[in-house]
Amino acid sequence: MFDRLHIDRRVLLTTAKIGALSVAVSLACVLAALQFLPSGNSVLPLAAGFAVTVPLLCSLPIALVIVAQSARLAELNARLEHDAAHDALTGIANRRAFLAAIERCCATGEGAGLLLIDADRFKSINDRFGHHVGDEALVALTRSIASVLDESAMLARLGGEEFGVLLPAASLVQAAATAELVRSAVERSSFVTPDKVPCPLTVSIGIDRLEDARDAYPLRRADIALYAAKNSGRNRVAVFDEAMLRNDLSEAA
Ligand code: GH3
Ligand code: MG
Ligand code: MG
Repeated sequence: MFDRLHIDRRVLLTTAKIGALSVAVSLACVLAALQFLPSGNSVLPLAAGFAVTVPLLCSLPIALVIVAQSARLAELNARLEHDAAHDALTGIANRRAFLAAIERCCATGEGAGLLLIDADRFKSINDRFGHHVGDEALVALTRSIASVLDESAMLARLGGEEFGVLLPAASLVQAAATAELVRSAVERSSFVTPDKVPCPLTVSIGIDRLEDARDAYPLRRADIALYAAKNSGRNRVAVFDEAMLRNDLSEAA
């Protein structure tokens, strides 16, 4: 455990604190004991020596253990924080991190372009090749989508076979252009199962422009556009417009 540790400032500081505290406690005990011993007792200097040296000698290993434990806790904490914001299968951001990023983006006043991406007929991949191949297809899909995004874009897995892309400060036109890049990259990608069976993948994409930080359900309009993309034949992109909302409301009624 100790070999990974450098005797750094933190260890020295902790050692000094533990050393000072324990020497003070030991000396206080010796002084208290003094009250009960006859004056001029010869064990007194020896006891005082022990009261200082033993705590000092013990303080370094104790400090090393404390610093090692806190380093381990910090590492675990960082891993927990990472896991709370990332999807275990694909390694990209998860829904929680995506919604937080939307909030931050809208709060700047610049808004963002939003793509809601859903794999087409994904259930049939699981049905034909098994769930484990479906998982591999999801990882391949993630790679294809990420391959056409620049550094400012955030890609997240929102759940199941659904992904989101947040494009900070992007206009609807820019978002639509990115969506088309994503759609065609997935269509061109050539996913092959472990048994070497070609398995074409396609996605449908709903697009929206986010403006309002207080929107209770910021994915709703992109979701409606995604539904329209699915209905128009899949492997399509669709930009949200108010007419879609009216259709959605009349279908729900
Ligand atoms: P559509 O084009 O309408 O979206 O059809 P679809 O089959 O993709 O949609 P549907 O909602 O019917 O099915 C989604 C499928 O995605 C079903 C589910 O088994 C699969 N799926 C969701 N999450 C995972 C996962 O983590 N791994 C695997 N292998 N499959 C998943
Ligand atoms: Mg699907
Ligand atoms: Mg879906």
